[in-house]
Amino acid sequence: MSTSKQFDVVVIGAGPGGYIAAIRAAQLGFSVACIDEWANAKGGPAPGGTCTNVGCIPSKALLQSSEHFEHAGHAFKEHGIDVAGLSLNLPQMLKRKETVVKQNNDGILYLFKKNKVTFFHGRGAFAGAADGGYTVSVTGANAESLQAKHVIVATGSNARELPGAPFDEKLILSNTGALAIDAVPAKLGVIGAGVIGLEMGSVWRRLGAEVTVLEGLPTFLGAVDEQIAKEAHKLFTKQGLNINLGVKISKVSAGKNDVTVEYADSTGAAQKAVFDKLIISIGRVPNTNGLNADAVGLKLDERGFIAVDDDCKTNLPGVWAVGDVVRGPMLAHKAEEEGVAVAERIAGQHGHTNFNTIPWVIYTSPEIAWVGQTEQQLKAAGVAYKAGTFPFMANGRARALGDTSGMVKFLADATTDEILGVHIVGPMASELISEAVVAMEFRASSEDIARICHAHPSLSEATKEAALAIDKRSLNF
Ligand SMILES: Cc1cc2nc3c(=O)[nH]c(=O)nc-3n(C[C@H](O)[C@H](O)[C@H](O)COP(=O)(O)OP(=O)(O)OC[C@H]3O[C@@H](n4cnc5c(N)ncnc54)[C@H](O)[C@@H]3O)c2cc1C
Repeated sequence: MSTSKQFDVVVIGAGPGGYIAAIRAAQLGFSVACIDEWANAKGGPAPGGTCTNVGCIPSKALLQSSEHFEHAGHAFKEHGIDVAGLSLNLPQMLKRKETVVKQNNDGILYLFKKNKVTFFHGRGAFAGAADGGYTVSVTGANAESLQAKHVIVATGSNARELPGAPFDEKLILSNTGALAIDAVPAKLGVIGAGVIGLEMGSVWRRLGAEVTVLEGLPTFLGAVDEQIAKEAHKLFTKQGLNINLGVKISKVSAGKNDVTVEYADSTGAAQKAVFDKLIISIGRVPNTNGLNADAVGLKLDERGFIAVDDDCKTNLPGVWAVGDVVRGPMLAHKAEEEGVAVAERIAGQHGHTNFNTIPWVIYTSPEIAWVGQTEQQLKAAGVAYKAGTFPFMANGRARALGDTSGMVKFLADATTDEILGVHIVGPMASELISEAVVAMEFRASSEDIARICHAHPSLSEATKEAALAIDKRSLNF
């Protein structure tokens, strides 16, 4: 190994946390290296992390494609469009997904060049502390030794395995395998009714699989506002997702061509189900594999996350950590916000991440999106609030679209009228939630939204109407 290459900042991991931190640090005038080990099918670099390679981007590509397929088969007729001979070309659908992923990988490599971030393809590991900074080794095809005063760790997360049912990505699938099934399974099992399980279940149901979801918790989408979760449960069940709550898995056994799941249902009765494929989506665990945290004494918490304070500072001076590998929601935009904030703090600025206004989205159809507090959280905290809802059924644009499912719900402080939470289940909820995020960042009242002119006809009018509903003065319902 040659002598160490010097940088101001070394970033380990080029997922949304790491690559954004690297770009922002470079914008601020630092010399920056970013190391990432993800390899594409040809062994080449594939920056973008879980998000780009096996997460946000490919899942949304398949959700879009499968939604087109479902619309062509079921919704077009109502619009006066008859489709004859509709058939699924799954290899093409998967190829398109891969193209979308590659465009994003290449886009990040381009951004690194544009911003003069030096990219290293390989595994980054702490080699030691030296001269008021750190030595980081890069292993892989081109071994290197890097030195920097600041290191940002953004090594992400991996899918959690169910004990006794290791992923083989053929029959028992993590998100990686779930995004690459090469023939639509007749019977698909999904263990875990969280965001990933519901999104993956939706994709394969739309393409023709009979999908059974097994969830350990007794409530559906416990983190979501109850009224919204109930509505979503009703809609998903109507679409054909077979959702079983309060189950206790006792055994998963993979055969030659199928997987058997034995479990107790919510009444305690023993059940057995046989699936062609089984997706396990029971959460994700922080990834510090191969980082060699011990070499420098980098502290992890009891759950294996890198321990950080509110500013993403670790126990070591000059070492920061962001994204899925630290506490907080495992969301790409949360990782990005932390990455920007850390780069700015290194530059002596006041980087800022507002955890109260991080939006959440589930890209099912209809989509579910929310920001701020749920009604059950406000009740538990004893906060006096007012609620207003508006159904998409009464929204002209939703009728024209042919998707009138769901509603917008506002929660505002009973005294000050400040918006405390906004919850949406319905068409384009992922886009609509941005208005609520902006409003909450500016600490707007529901009255502010109610008085703002919204374009007609638009889905966003449902947002305005829900704000009006806080004082029982919706105009169209
Ligand atoms: C199926 C699925 C769908 C999702 N959909 C969404 C969504 O729609 N919206 C959303 O906000 N979030 C979504 N997420 C979550 C999102 O992907 C993560 O929150 C996000 O990727 C976290 O970013 P990160 O930068 O912390 O880590 P990651 O994206 O996991 O990136 C970490 C990177 O570090 C690399 N690495 C790790 N260790 C080393 C090392 N020692 N040396 C070199 N490189 C290393 C890894 O190879 C990887 O490239 C989804 C996740 C999944 C699985």
